[in-house]
Amino acid sequence: MKIKTACPVCGNISFDFVSELFFKPDIPEEFGFYKDRFFVQCIRCGTVMQMPLIVEQDDFMKYGKAYYNQMAKSTQEGEDAINNHITFGQIPMYETCENFLKSSVDPTEHHKWLDVGSAGVPTTFKDFDFTTIEPDERTVMIGRKRFATEKINCATLETYDPKEQYDGVLFHNSFYCLPDPEKSLQKASQLLKRGGVVAIAICSYFMETSTTSPDTRYLRIEEVYRGDVLWAYYNRFSLKYLMERCGFVYVQDKVLQYSDCNRKPWFSARYFLFNKAGDTTQANPQDLQESNLLNKQLLKKLEYDFSQSIRNTLSAINNKNYFLIGNRDILFDLQRFGPMDSIGGVVDYENSAIFGISQNGLNFVDVNAILDNPQANLIVASFKSREAIAAALRKKFSFAKIFVANRSSGIERLIHERFGLCKGFEIVPYNG
Ligand SMILES: [Zn+2]
Repeated sequence: MKIKTACPVCGNISFDFVSELFFKPDIPEEFGFYKDRFFVQCIRCGTVMQMPLIVEQDDFMKYGKAYYNQMAKSTQEGEDAINNHITFGQIPMYETCENFLKSSVDPTEHHKWLDVGSAGVPTTFKDFDFTTIEPDERTVMIGRKRFATEKINCATLETYDPKEQYDGVLFHNSFYCLPDPEKSLQKASQLLKRGGVVAIAICSYFMETSTTSPDTRYLRIEEVYRGDVLWAYYNRFSLKYLMERCGFVYVQDKVLQYSDCNRKPWFSARYFLFNKAGDTTQANPQDLQESNLLNKQLLKKLEYDFSQSIRNTLSAINNKNYFLIGNRDILFDLQRFGPMDSIGGVVDYENSAIFGISQNGLNFVDVNAILDNPQANLIVASFKSREAIAAALRKKFSFAKIFVANRSSGIERLIHERFGLCKGFEIVPYNG
């Protein structure tokens, strides 16, 4: 195993510590933090990344496995996860990608393409001749069968050694999976013919696009940082700088909405096109400043959005018929965003013996007090076990309206010791 500890964008080696790296951001019961891997932010260009960057694995296929395993609770579920990812993630998005390519390059001139990291959807494009490489063996097998082609190979860009050259290299939501982009771009450059192009699509908070949720909003830190399978979070300035430093000239970038795709119309991604240059390209240091500034603004906005969503929810439920039910830590986190002075009461779910007291402005009541209020609305203030708590409440208070947080999360608190405020709080009716 080989590691690197310099910023892949600007080469700087000074960082601000963000937090320990986490894994399985979308499966709260398996979510956890590493002790020896971290999220850091480059103090020069503001890029957030994993550290250390593991640039060479003993077995490159491990990485591909990890990418798809993060979507599944067990290995058995792994294949279903891959198939779902192809059906709902890759197929609709590659449609937008195909349109982008057709509108950006001449398919007769840039006909032969290498797609880095997918199940092989672009091998079905009519106007282009695509070959795909993908490090996960299972995905390669599934892709070959599904798209009836042999042009899906199990490899990374570094381990792939074709006899031919290409007119274009495509990274469709895969560029952030490269731990050593400089090295990967050198390889891409070798594989490209003279006049070749690189197309990159990235969907992320820092690219100012909307991602995981139909409400198009970022309401958890895990929607911004995606755990151990993404290495660096580029924005439009840092990616441009990196590409120019590695011998590619910026042509264009634009945000495209997947509005035509009925499965995930809320998704959008930023699409870039770069030309392979001669030997000399000049990266503009101004882009590093712009990148740093943009990330500062985006992180500030994130915190603002989190706190506004909590404030709005609390204002809406500040009424004697509403009861907040959760553990004490979350209740106290919420209380910092008040008002909760007119609420019916709060219930410490883990320690229901605590009631009849008022602490830091929170009025703890006995959960049975709710029985006396036929108009009670119960708000489950929990992220890891919202469903379980809601189900238990439903049994006991069949008459009550029950609401749960509209996001689940492996981080039970709203205020995390490293991230600070790490989520918002919005509620939806529980229909279980
Ligand atoms: Zn940097």
